[in-house]
Amino acid sequence: MNLVRNLQGLKYHLRKLKRRLSLPIFLMQNYNEEKFTCPICLYTGPFKGIKSALSGLHRKFVECPVCGAFERHRLQYLVVNNVLETIHPSGLKMLHFAPEPFFREFFSKRFGKYETADLSMSHVDHNVDLQKLPFDDQTYDFVFASHVLEHIPNDGKALSEIRRILKPKGIAVLPVPIVAEKTIEYPEPNPNEEYHVRAPGLDYYDRYDRYFSKVDKISSDMLPGKYQLYTYEDRSQWPTEKCPLRLSMPGEKHIDIVPVCYV
Ligand SMILES: [Zn+2]
Repeated sequence: MNLVRNLQGLKYHLRKLKRRLSLPIFLMQNYNEEKFTCPICLYTGPFKGIKSALSGLHRKFVECPVCGAFERHRLQYLVVNNVLETIHPSGLKMLHFAPEPFFREFFSKRFGKYETADLSMSHVDHNVDLQKLPFDDQTYDFVFASHVLEHIPNDGKALSEIRRILKPKGIAVLPVPIVAEKTIEYPEPNPNEEYHVRAPGLDYYDRYDRYFSKVDKISSDMLPGKYQLYTYEDRSQWPTEKCPLRLSMPGEKHIDIVPVCYV
């Protein structure tokens, strides 16, 4: 387990090093491009575009060339930082689902007790099904699960379980990719979309209101534009062969939303 964790860590640090080495050439090639600021590493300059592995579409202004953060990471980081300023995480216990290397490092430094969980990942503390958690009621103060619920068939059960394991003043941050105007449920997981069982829409977080007393929905347009928190993607060509159930969305600039859920 330690070896796997060390290998993951090594890969993460190698990617960091690769970005550092390629930065001067990227900056030379893009000195005329629009400039933004990364709230995580405080770099200011052009951001990298990427080709989405899922949709095959090109997205511009995505990746910070220094720390590698994507639009969604920057938005989540700003939202989570704001939340952590209102609590004292050093005395709290958190559970991190499907832990990404960046947020693993970020959370483990801040929370007094930090645990990780996933259905199948090998380097986590708990291999568990989010729809049926083995933890006692009111075990955790904070739960973070980014881009997880779009994989879960019974998302209502998962939300109910997250609510159950949270302490009375607990908080959960549970973002999913917003890729539709209205949520589209798939009859079966789509292997071309990393087995997503739905395309969450702008209405998706309304489902959370049933389980939490308050859900703050923080969207890209509520924070400074200099951080570039939008998803730039031409979605007018949906549906595609790979995403046959998605619907066309007008415009190239789409908001992302991070929900902060209070028990
Ligand atoms: Zn950065």
